[in-house]
This record gives sequence, C-alpha cells and structure tokens, in this order.
Amino acid sequence: MFYRPDTFAAALRLKADHAAAIKPISGGTDLVVGLNRGQSLGVDVLDLTAAKDYRRIDHADGSLILSGGTTFAQLEQLDIACLARAAASVGGPQIRNRGTIAGNLATASPAGDGSVALLALDAEVELAHADRGTRWLRLIDYFEDYRQTALGDDELISHVRIPTPSALQASAWYKIGKRGAVNISLVCAAAARFLDGRICLAFGSVAPIPMRAVQTEKLLQGQPLTGALLHQAAQAASAEVKPIDDWRASADYRKAMCAVLARRVLEQLQTDDERQMP
Ligand SMILES: Cc1cc2nc3c(=O)[nH]c(=O)nc-3n(C[C@H](O)[C@H](O)[C@H](O)COP(=O)(O)OP(=O)(O)OC[C@H]3O[C@@H](n4cnc5c(N)ncnc54)[C@H](O)[C@@H]3O)c2cc1C
Repeated sequence: MFYRPDTFAAALRLKADHAAAIKPISGGTDLVVGLNRGQSLGVDVLDLTAAKDYRRIDHADGSLILSGGTTFAQLEQLDIACLARAAASVGGPQIRNRGTIAGNLATASPAGDGSVALLALDAEVELAHADRGTRWLRLIDYFEDYRQTALGDDELISHVRIPTPSALQASAWYKIGKRGAVNISLVCAAAARFLDGRICLAFGSVAPIPMRAVQTEKLLQGQPLTGALLHQAAQAASAEVKPIDDWRASADYRKAMCAVLARRVLEQLQTDDERQMP
C-alpha cells in the first residue's frame, strides 16, 4: 500500500498503527537509491510530502524550528554558516531540492552532512507519536550506534530546533571529499561558537555515528582561541575520533585530516584579537 496523507497528524496515526510495517519517505534520495538497485522495501510506504506544513521554518522562543521536511535547498538560505555550507555541499541541485533534514537524521549515516552541522549547533530533534505526543532529544543523545538512533519504530521525526543566527557569534564548516560536487565526505567538520562563549565541534565520517568531539570541546571552553590552543585542539580532535579504513580513505588519513579541519573551522571562530595571539 502507498499512503499519502495531507496532514502530519494523519501520518503520525498511520505510523503509530503500522510501526515497522510502514516506511516513511520524505525526499526519497536515500530510499529510492535502494529501490533503483532492485531492493524491495517489503513494507507499505508513507509519503510525507503532501503533509501540510512539513517544509516550514518558524521562529519560536529564540530558536528556529525546522519541520522535518525542510530541504537542503531551504537550509542553504539560512544565515548560519555551518548549516548553510553543509547543505550547499550535499549532492547536486536535484538532491538538495528533494533531500530533507528528517531523512538525513533518520538514515543516520556517519557521513551525513546535515547531521554533523546540526550537532555543532547543539540542535534538538523532536520525535512524535500519535498517542504519546512528542519528545525533544538533544542530537548528541539521538545517535546511538552505526545507523541506530533513538527514533522508535512507531514515531516520526517532526521538527529540529536550532539557535537563531543572533544566538551565534560564528560558525564554520569544512568538508573533504574526492571531487568538487556530488561529494560524499571523507571527513567533514563543523563548529559553532555561541554568544555565551560555548564552542561545539562535530565531525562526520570518522566514527560509527556523526560525532561531537566532546573531549576537545572541554579544552576550548572559556579560553581565548589562541594559536597555541588551536594547535592543542587539533591534536586532541585527531586523538578523539575513531575512524575506520574503507575504500574511500584510510583511518590514518582521516585522523590526520581531523587535525587539519579542526584547526580550519576553529580559525573561523576566532575574533580579530584572538588572531593576533600566538
Ligand atoms: C546522488 C546523491 C548524493 C548525495 N549526497 C549527499 C551528501 O553530499 N551528503 C549527505 O549527507 N547526504 C547525501 N546523500 C544522501 C541523502 O540525500 C540525504 O541523506 C538526505 O538527507 C535524505 O533525505 P530524504 O528526505 O531524501 O530521505 P528519504 O530517502 O525520504 O528517507 C531516508 C530515511 O529516512 C526515513 N525518514 C524520512 N523522513 C522521516 C521522518 N520524518 N521521520 C522518520 N523517518 C523518516 C525514511 O524512512 C528512510 O529510512 C546523497 C544522495 C544521493 C542519491
């Protein structure tokens, strides 16, 4: 069966009633790849694209609330450097026009560019159930293991909450891949500095999950971002990540690139005064 409800509430009802026996589809840019290869979903399909308000971005209580169906093309327009640049680095224009943030979080690829940028923003994800209501989770608690998340079989991703641009001092993004476009990251990094001074640093493709470098972040809190501290943070980040060898790159290469990218994204968070410091 193929369901295409016109409200998110109706989609939630179907998901709650059918649980794992129904598969949501947002942009289809992950799911349809498998279908094109001849894989069968083996379950009913729940198309979310007709659900009203599934592609909205709203302001609420000093945050931006992204509906799950927010596309990378929409994210590219935001005045939040790490997220806009991460979104702009995804696939080609067709993929960015269809691919959504809910799809990126549900797929939970370690290379998920949107997921990494959202981690650096210390985003929260809202998981919704027709009867139990909604629960907000910090993204750092949402990713559990390789392609495993806190999302229940009977839930949908409804929203993601991020800070407004005015709550951020600066943010940055960098991705290394094998080519300039339609580029899966060998390593990617995102960092954000909040107005209260807090710094978050996240990496992709260097662990079973998109990861926050929490040990490295501890070094950075409350300290001016001097050249010496950036050097220390780069070494710490390289030691903290846990990449594997695969056909795209070796673990050693990825570790070395984490040091380089940590430095690059943190340099973009420096104030003019900090840039003068050794
Ligand atoms: C050519 C190509 C290039 C790509 N390049 C990149 C890239 O550079 N970076 C990158 O990160 N990704 C890339 N991708 C992967 C893909 O585009 C992203 O992961 C995208 O975010 C998936 O979103 P979607 O809406 O298309 O997901 P879908 O394919 O619709 O769904 C993906 C998964 O999420 C689940 N899902 C969807 N919506 C919900 C919801 N609301 N609640 C719960 N579960 C849900 C689905 O059931 C499915 O398991 C690429 C894909 C292609 C085909």
